Amino acid sequence: MHPHIWYPFTQAKTALEPLKVKSAQGVWLELENGHKMIDCISSWWVNTYGHCHPKIAEAIYQQAQQLEQVIFAGFTHDPAEQLAEKLVAKLGAPFNRVFFSDNGSTAVEVGLKMAYQYWVNQGQARSTFLAFDGAYHGDTFGAMSVGARSLFSAVFSNLLFNVEFVPFPSTYWGDRTAEETEAKVLSILEKALDERGDRIAGVMIEPLVQGAGGMRMCRPQFLQKLRAIAQSFNTLLIFDEVMTGFGRTGDWFACHKAGVSPDILCLSKGITGGFLPFAVTVCSEEIYHAFYDDEPLKTLYHGHSYTANPLGCAAALAGLELMTEYEPQFRSMEAKHHAQLAQLKDHPAVEKLRVTGTIAAMDLVTQERSGYLNTISLEIRQRAIAKGLLLRPLGNVLYILPPYCIRDTELAQIYQGIGEILTDLSKDFLI
Ligand SMILES: *Cc1c(COP(=O)(O)O)cnc(C)c1O
Repeated sequence: MHPHIWYPFTQAKTALEPLKVKSAQGVWLELENGHKMIDCISSWWVNTYGHCHPKIAEAIYQQAQQLEQVIFAGFTHDPAEQLAEKLVAKLGAPFNRVFFSDNGSTAVEVGLKMAYQYWVNQGQARSTFLAFDGAYHGDTFGAMSVGARSLFSAVFSNLLFNVEFVPFPSTYWGDRTAEETEAKVLSILEKALDERGDRIAGVMIEPLVQGAGGMRMCRPQFLQKLRAIAQSFNTLLIFDEVMTGFGRTGDWFACHKAGVSPDILCLSKGITGGFLPFAVTVCSEEIYHAFYDDEPLKTLYHGHSYTANPLGCAAALAGLELMTEYEPQFRSMEAKHHAQLAQLKDHPAVEKLRVTGTIAAMDLVTQERSGYLNTISLEIRQRAIAKGLLLRPLGNVLYILPPYCIRDTELAQIYQGIGEILTDLSKDFLI
């Protein structure tokens, strides 16, 4: 370990030495020692169009020579205005206002504050949110509060605000109980909103795919019904699309794929194609309007030093152009995953195969408890590196979430590597 760096999510005492990456191009990472690996997980899900994409690099370079940063209160600039216009146009109704920040957790914090204050500004004190078991919304305190209580937040549990959790109706190939599970969850939601709806500021969900919670997937039908319930009980619906946004689910945004419009939408990870930390929280005009007043206390008093950083805006604008360019790729990846995953279907070590857009996942059957600390993860990471693959299972959940520029042969290489690893591992670990 480097003597002066504190690595994230890492117990330095027991962790392996981190690998030093020298360069990256497309889906490939190259280590200092020359070893090459396919980035099968888009480097923590941010790298949507491949590493070092020249169009984004060029956009940042050009912007850096014109205006690199300026205070965003009392001042504005073209890159922010253009980005807001393009995002609103692409997202469609009811989205109309873009609030800039710089990472996913913060996009979520802003969403929570908007929802909470929306009610306060109308004279209503709604002190809690509804969220889902298994959710992950980030590592800041508000985001931790609406996330499932987990290993990540356990130490801080006394400091988190109160949130009501309901089950997430996760489903997978061949699941015959999906509708029944959804009906149960919806009735729990309805009961909670019926009894305590006037205290619930909003419902927060990762639409279609829960990321860090284990790539757990739900059906569009569920989100459609959730939308209807939130509407009928007059509470806000917040989509955390930090991971699912920008093509991940096979459409531009999960809300498009599901045919559902939330009131507030949080975006980050893919927004700059993996180049710069950047985020936005987008809302309807109705929400914005609740803050538009002569009364200073009705202002959303939130902002960050780097809010709407012009370099980030330029990267995001270039990213939007690449979204159009790569649209055939992110739309067709679901079918490719299906075809590849089908070969693993009967492997005794895998269960609950599932695909949404560019994301494929499966649970590994091990003798240990499921969960983030399952040691199969480390075992797979090590064996994958040797095969030239960057994989990072979430405990016993193995998933693939590649950049959209991946070639068919490279995707096949990933699946072949996974097949080999699982067959090797079956001998020692798996049942
Ligand atoms: C990663 C993630 C976050 C947190 O984003 P950071 O940029 O890591 O703070 C929030 N929500 C979801 C769904 C995520 O996947």
